[in-house]
Amino acid sequence: MPKVRAEKKSRVHTEVAKQGIVFNKDFGQHILKNPLIVTSMLEKAALRPTDVVLEIGPGTGNMTVKILEKVKKVVACEIDPRLVAELQKRVQGTPFQSKLQILIGDVLKSELPFFDACVANMPYQISSPFVFKLLLHRPFFRCAVLMFQLEFAQRLVAKPGDKLYCRLSVNAQLLARVDMLMKVGKNNFRPPPKVESSVVRVEPRNPPPPINYTEWDGLTRIAFLRKNKTLAAAFKQSTVLTTLEENYKIHCSLKNIDIPERFSMKEKVEEILQKINAESKRARTMDIDDFMTVLHAFNVEGIHFK
Ligand code: SAH
Repeated sequence: MPKVRAEKKSRVHTEVAKQGIVFNKDFGQHILKNPLIVTSMLEKAALRPTDVVLEIGPGTGNMTVKILEKVKKVVACEIDPRLVAELQKRVQGTPFQSKLQILIGDVLKSELPFFDACVANMPYQISSPFVFKLLLHRPFFRCAVLMFQLEFAQRLVAKPGDKLYCRLSVNAQLLARVDMLMKVGKNNFRPPPKVESSVVRVEPRNPPPPINYTEWDGLTRIAFLRKNKTLAAAFKQSTVLTTLEENYKIHCSLKNIDIPERFSMKEKVEEILQKINAESKRARTMDIDDFMTVLHAFNVEGIHFK
């Protein structure tokens, strides 16, 4: 035990000596130290001199300065004031200073500025909410090149039938084209994280699909609760039926529609699923068009998922 403690102490000491900064694990601070990976990420983003680029978690700015060389403006959002100071010091007195705007705070709680592209090696713990914040952001951006934990990246790009196919895959792929670009080993980071990483390119579908995303999310939530079950089984759960019925009653009262006395949501759901031949479909093999068909069939009957 004492040995471990001693090791820890000395590692922290080395970090302080090298950089004056002790990296904070709670903020997912793992600096990408391999410049070849930074360069390659920027290449994949195909940045233009006129671009405004959003960077999340610039850290000490290794990637930031390389982006600044290529574009008109960088807006970098950083939660840790110590690193903000570090980054400011790094550009001070250089031509980059006037091209860099720093937003201090949690990106999930910040309003995103206008940007053409987003490039980031960001903290993995906010991957999912951040991806959807990006994808629901307007006006549209051109593309994002992002570093994620390998497993998250694999789920993001998984296709129907793949082992890792899940609600994240289908929700993200509804809104964007997602491609796995490269796997990145732990030793490219300092300190090395416990997990492997991977770079993904995200390109929003513009124009967006003609669906209400909140409804869509409500449907995929039900379908993927048990992704190996049939839709008929997923929709039979009493909590699901109760929610659908509540939504339906609100819908009917807003539209002045009388609800038949013997109305049963359970029967209604069965009827709709039968009509589109979807009772025996399972979320794990359903593609985006399959979910669209289901959503539409429910919506035309006044049944809503939000
Ligand atoms: N991009 C840098 C640092 C990556 S480490 C590099 O590759 O070298 C992740 C960075 O995200 C850290 O600087 C951390 O402080 C920052 N960060 C963590 N959570 C954040 C949040 N919620 N909003 C903004 N930045 C965050």
